[in-house]
Amino acid sequence: MPYIIKAKCPNCKKEAKGKDQVEELFGWRKIKGKKTIPQSYCRECRRKRVKKKK
Ligand SMILES: [Zn+2]
Repeated sequence: MPYIIKAKCPNCKKEAKGKDQVEELFGWRKIKGKKTIPQSYCRECRRKRVKKKK
């Protein structure tokens, strides 16, 4: 596969290129149990967002 997977956090502008970085910085999200895509927000920002929830 020539396609390089990338992810960019819209909150802190952090970027991840390639599976390894995405795995480390963003993590994955499963869609309908079949497709796996990078999380839109990085792990750090997701953690902060989750904290804000009650
Ligand atoms: Zn972020």
